[in-house]
Amino acid sequence: MRTLPTLRILRILRMLIPRCLLPASLLASGLAFWYARETGGDLQLALALPAALILLAGMAAERLLPYRADWSVAQGDTRTDASSAALLFGVVDPALKWLLPLVLTAQLAPASAAAGWASLPFLAQLLIATLLAEFSSYWAHRLHHALPGLWWLHALHHGSGRLYALNNFRIHPLNYMINYLFCIGPLLLLGVPADVILAYLALSYPVLMLQHANLPLRSGWLNHVFSTNEVHRWHHADTPGEGEHNFGRALVLWDKVFGTFRYLPGRDDPRRVGLYRGANYPARAPFLHQVLSLRLPSCCRAAA
Ligand SMILES: [Zn+2]
Ligand SMILES: [Zn+2]
Repeated sequence: MRTLPTLRILRILRMLIPRCLLPASLLASGLAFWYARETGGDLQLALALPAALILLAGMAAERLLPYRADWSVAQGDTRTDASSAALLFGVVDPALKWLLPLVLTAQLAPASAAAGWASLPFLAQLLIATLLAEFSSYWAHRLHHALPGLWWLHALHHGSGRLYALNNFRIHPLNYMINYLFCIGPLLLLGVPADVILAYLALSYPVLMLQHANLPLRSGWLNHVFSTNEVHRWHHADTPGEGEHNFGRALVLWDKVFGTFRYLPGRDDPRRVGLYRGANYPARAPFLHQVLSLRLPSCCRAAA
């Protein structure tokens, strides 16, 4: 039985979460990064710790205040999402973080580039890096929807019939590598300083950690800046004409520029999310089958 103070706290949290969770997360991540940079602290830790806490807060908030009750019920997808997260963060992500700077920065970036960046104020560097990373990420995502070979990889991300926080990590490892290469690769090739790249990640991680959350966030004008869960929900719509929108990674700027932005205040609920019905996509089998399904296209035929 919950005591009166507990009930009061829960009531206050239910009031605060919709409008405050995303702005508070952005602020916390930004402040942690700024403080670590000012004091010579560990920037990687200042990036990863708030991101992990925001994810955990989002998952806890999903239990307290779900946007849709039926999305709180597992649909046989939790093991796929957990397996995918373990593979990405246990193997793929560390390997990329180690290998890519060695190849792109150490071997290919012109030595003079670093001096060029250093001549700009930090915020200007961050702005340019953000626009570049978001631009190439936008097109990487759009190409994954346009080209059948890439869609074969990306369908895994769209395979769930519900949206909740862990969907964020349901990504085919090859899809993840391509995304990473498109997002961070150009910055490394152009010699963008490591702390600028990490600052961009500190800006984008809070958005990404909550992007699939089953929460009734009401982010207001922030929906015109960031690819929030209100905006990203449309991207997962299972209806042609609705789903081909909002390809942006953390920002919606390039969706606005290229005419793929969709946000309908007060009507923010696509009828259903998931794969387009009746199509043959590789996201209907256990995780390992899905990962290997490039070679087993008939193993995962969707029900018509
Ligand atoms: Zn997509
Ligand atoms: Zn998504």
